[in-house]
Amino acid sequence: MSPDEFRKAAHELIDWIADYRQKIPELSVRAQVEPGAVRRALPASPPTGTDDFGLLLADLDRVIVPGITQVQHPMHFGWFPSNAALASVLGDIASSGMGTLGISWESCPALTELEEVVCDWMRQLTGLGEQWHGTIHDTASTACVTAMILARERASQFSKNGAGLQAAAAPMVVYSTAQAHSSIAKAVQLAGFGNDNLRLVDEDPYTRAMLPGALAAAIERDLAAGNVPAAIVCSVGATATTAMDPVEAIAIIANRYGIWLHVDAAMAGSAMLLPECRHLWQGVEQADSLAWNPHKWMGTILDTALFYVRDVAHLEAVMSTNPSYLRSGADGQVTQYRDWGIPLGRRFRALKLWFHLRLDGVDAIQARLRRDLDNARWFARQVEAAEDWEVLAPVMLQTVCIRHVPGQSSGTPLSGAALDAHTLAWLESINTSGAAFMSPSLLDGRWMVRVSIGVEGTTREHVRRLWEFIQRSAAAA
Ligand SMILES: *Cc1c(COP(=O)(O)O)cnc(C)c1O
Repeated sequence: MSPDEFRKAAHELIDWIADYRQKIPELSVRAQVEPGAVRRALPASPPTGTDDFGLLLADLDRVIVPGITQVQHPMHFGWFPSNAALASVLGDIASSGMGTLGISWESCPALTELEEVVCDWMRQLTGLGEQWHGTIHDTASTACVTAMILARERASQFSKNGAGLQAAAAPMVVYSTAQAHSSIAKAVQLAGFGNDNLRLVDEDPYTRAMLPGALAAAIERDLAAGNVPAAIVCSVGATATTAMDPVEAIAIIANRYGIWLHVDAAMAGSAMLLPECRHLWQGVEQADSLAWNPHKWMGTILDTALFYVRDVAHLEAVMSTNPSYLRSGADGQVTQYRDWGIPLGRRFRALKLWFHLRLDGVDAIQARLRRDLDNARWFARQVEAAEDWEVLAPVMLQTVCIRHVPGQSSGTPLSGAALDAHTLAWLESINTSGAAFMSPSLLDGRWMVRVSIGVEGTTREHVRRLWEFIQRSAAAA
């Protein structure tokens, strides 16, 4: 494709994207396809020759769009927000269009230095101190694997340079809670600690926050058994209920025992753009590493996960290999991001944040986050005031965990498996209708519904409509 052919097709594509974004509110929120339907609509063998761009665009409408769960839909309340601000989409297009290669500073100085600058802007915007140095990973999952490797190498005195974990005399242990995101257990497994060495520390039964006393006791038990406490993963905004582990109390313990502290704020990091929310990660300055996803609530399109460390020398000592073919005269004066993570080749992700911050502006992003916090509090008040409805966890951010318990007000509440069936039935009737979407989660072994507010287009009116749907479908279930 020549640049002129590209110009013509790209204009059409941009028009298509703008039209598509405009019509999202009219689409079904949940993809209305059976498993295998998208695959069956596509040819089994690869295309021969070339196709017309118009045919490709038509197939986007015919095959692809029906197979999308519309997470940009204002009635999407599932999982966590996955906003894709159009300003950041422009940055993504610019990144792809320039076709840069980030394998070293030399291969694209602008890629490295813009990343340094926007990571530092984000540090300032979230109120973090100057000792933090950031990079952009694809996801918080990758950031957590990186953090677990950093912890492993610190606790094992750089076992990677010798026989690795195979020479370890005693198992190294990681501490978290049952509320932690599934990517934490995955990172612990993949970094070589093994699932047996992941301790799920007791939580407060209501706030679901890690109990620091229980953490200290678990560490003491491991020390007495001859194990090596290596890392603590602290959740700031855990997945089911946005529970907040007490970072400050945990950091004091981590420092006392010399244990690596990773803060997983994948969801809640966006809230730290608001000064009034920063008490939620009080003590974060004492952590060793920290990750959060602008690609969630803040809305810089995937894949934009910030990863910060305080000890860059340790990070580089663990991640650097310094092969001869990548050495250059600039070494020592510049950042080589390949030594800050696992991949060698990197995309120009910083453009997405740069465009987003400059075109939408911090004020507007903050105003939207405050709107969503307000909508969540309003919604929680409606649920609390309604007969036979419960809000099951503190509303720390924009997620409200709810359950309908028929018969509660008359003293004969539905319970057990019957309650679970009821919860899943009313939820499924809404999700199947396509009018709105929420996702369920287990809490203490019982199903509940998470109402996760925060899509860019979701206003109070959408939340009000959702509450009507919910009451109607629960009454009918
Ligand atoms: C979403 C989320 C993750 C995983 O994020 P990815 O970027 O999708 O890997 C991890 N932890 C928490 C608390 C999350 O909300």
